[in-house]
Amino acid sequence: MIHTDFDVVIVGLGPVGGTLANLLAMNDLRILILEKEASLYDLPRAVHFDDEIMRVFNTIGIAKSLSKKIIINKGTKFIDKKGEVILDWPRPKIITENGWYPSYRFHQPDLERSLRNKLKKFGKVKILQNTEVHKTINKKEFTTVTYKNTMTGEEFSVKSKYTIGCDGANSFIRNEIKSDMENLGFEQRWAVIDVILKTKKNNLPDRTIQYCNSKRPATYCRNVGNRRRWEIALKDNESLEKFFDKKKLWKFLSKWILPNEAIIERKTVYTFQSAIAKKWRRGRFFLVGDAAHLTPPFMGQGMCAGIRDASNLAWKISICCKKGHNEKLLNSYQSERSSNVRNYINTAMKMGELLNSIGGIKVSDTVYIKPDGSIKMNTIKPKLGRGLGNNSDINRGKIFPSLKDEFNRDIDNLFSSEPILITNNKIDKNQIKIKVLDYLDIPDLDVLLQKFGTDSLIVRPDRFILAGTKSNDLKKFCDNHINIIYGSKV
Ligand SMILES: Cc1cc2nc3c(=O)[nH]c(=O)nc-3n(C[C@H](O)[C@H](O)[C@H](O)COP(=O)(O)OP(=O)(O)OC[C@H]3O[C@@H](n4cnc5c(N)ncnc54)[C@H](O)[C@@H]3O)c2cc1C
Repeated sequence: MIHTDFDVVIVGLGPVGGTLANLLAMNDLRILILEKEASLYDLPRAVHFDDEIMRVFNTIGIAKSLSKKIIINKGTKFIDKKGEVILDWPRPKIITENGWYPSYRFHQPDLERSLRNKLKKFGKVKILQNTEVHKTINKKEFTTVTYKNTMTGEEFSVKSKYTIGCDGANSFIRNEIKSDMENLGFEQRWAVIDVILKTKKNNLPDRTIQYCNSKRPATYCRNVGNRRRWEIALKDNESLEKFFDKKKLWKFLSKWILPNEAIIERKTVYTFQSAIAKKWRRGRFFLVGDAAHLTPPFMGQGMCAGIRDASNLAWKISICCKKGHNEKLLNSYQSERSSNVRNYINTAMKMGELLNSIGGIKVSDTVYIKPDGSIKMNTIKPKLGRGLGNNSDINRGKIFPSLKDEFNRDIDNLFSSEPILITNNKIDKNQIKIKVLDYLDIPDLDVLLQKFGTDSLIVRPDRFILAGTKSNDLKKFCDNHINIIYGSKV
């Protein structure tokens, strides 16, 4: 057995690296996190996440504390130059199948602080800041990562079972594994202006407004507390110096606020892009988050997609660290995640087109025309792409709902890095190699399973359904599926 210093090295401690590290640490792995910055970035980029992501935060154990610092997002309206609503995307205040509200607004530094504080509680997690990774070696049985301390210039190397690049849009690890980006076609410079209100401004919208305008598309975000954001498309070759000129900027903002009503916390420019890495894995190296994909932020889904990656990969890596490397299991990561994220990117690009034009664009199959002629959009929840399990199984790749037991305890807490069989059949649990939950554990289980048109389901640790069956031979059903996950080592 090869000696490794760590089970996993994570390169980059942004929101995605922080989430992944927590999920892995919960499975008792030895983790080294290398981050080139001295501390967390104190200004937000992401301002929104959804119910599925809050469920992951709940798994990590930060949802309760985070709840105090976030607000429920009421939805988004796309309006035209005359101020008329051309597309409505409501996010009703109703608890979803994930057990949380559909959409939240947050302050990114609050989230990153929570993730880091939680990591400090794990004895096997080591975080090194001011450390930049600059060399890697990918061997059949381990990885080597070389990093330097950016303060002293000293160099170190560590050996681990796996290395995961959570190192953002300009990922070094992506270069190391020689993965090109597939350009999906959207590229536009946008100015982002974050303000802190000095006074109560009840006349500002309490939801996101997308101002569709072929000359100057813009977005207004109702962020947490006194924070508000405007994102404004820049014209080709427009001089930033001119655009950010204090007088001109306030003139632009004067439709909403005046200089005595707010301070500008920051103004900056981002190039909104849509792209996806061609390879998300080479050997024992993986890409997660912005390192693997980029989306324009019109749906607020870039970070969310990265957190879905983390949730998909964490349990697979944990099983491989504990029970041995399994190619098939690890190969399923890219195929399951890439089609799901592509769906979000394509929809966000359509929204970008709508913002840049006026009307006439089909945003997605979930858009429909209301009787008054305006368009309404439903939230998308794409299934996982091909991967583990049988694609002809209609339940495979769907998310399993968040449930409470009869004592109002969250069933999600029963998941670890192992899949669970959920069945309505009376069976000898000793014959089944994984944890079994039945009608004694889950109230109204028969009604729930009826919705899936099945008697039994295997649910993966990331709460996605691996398989469903009406068969009574649950031993065979479980053995077949479990062998895929553990590489028939169980
Ligand atoms: C204006 C704007 C608004 C957005 N709004 C939303 C939103 O509302 N909702 C949403 O879900 N997403 C949103 N996004 C997208 C979101 O911000 C990103 O998807 C998310 O921050 C990516 O997280 P990450 O952890 O993958 O990468 P990053 O946050 O970029 O973190 C990467 C980390 O890796 C470190 N690093 C890089 N190279 C190395 C190296 N060689 N060695 C060591 N460390 C290294 C970096 O210092 C950094 O800390 C928005 C983006 C923008 C620009």
